[in-house]
Amino acid sequence: MGDCLFCKIARGEIPSKKVYEDSEFFAFHDINPVAPVHFMLIPKLHVASLLEADASHAALLGKMLLLAPKLAKEQGLVNGFRTFINTGRGGGQEVMHLHIHIIGGGHIPPMVRRG
Ligand code: AMP
Ligand code: ZN
Repeated sequence: MGDCLFCKIARGEIPSKKVYEDSEFFAFHDINPVAPVHFMLIPKLHVASLLEADASHAALLGKMLLLAPKLAKEQGLVNGFRTFINTGRGGGQEVMHLHIHIIGGGHIPPMVRRG
């Protein structure tokens, strides 16, 4: 996708603070972090969101989930981290290129408060 922000970041056309890169994935720090460590893991393949993912992406998605803890540990998040994926406008997604947010390193409150 020529005009996709995260495709451009993965191609190195827009600078980023790179965390990791291989032939299929790219990871970089979020420009507006919500925690001491906040980076995103993306596939180099342009998939707009989980709504556009299908069975042909099963291996890619599996690899992403397995890569996330490896990178988190490398970033110092040895005691754990939070991952989240915003999906579509209804899920608050702003950049339409599938990405996993990985955050940690500070106080990470419960995501859902009840009562
Ligand atoms: P989402 O709301 O899940 O689509 O998340 C998009 C994220 O991309 C936000 O957390 C932004 O802070 C982040 N972001 C936007 N532009 C850049 C950029 N050029 N470099 C790094 N992160 C970015
Ligand atoms: Zn893209």
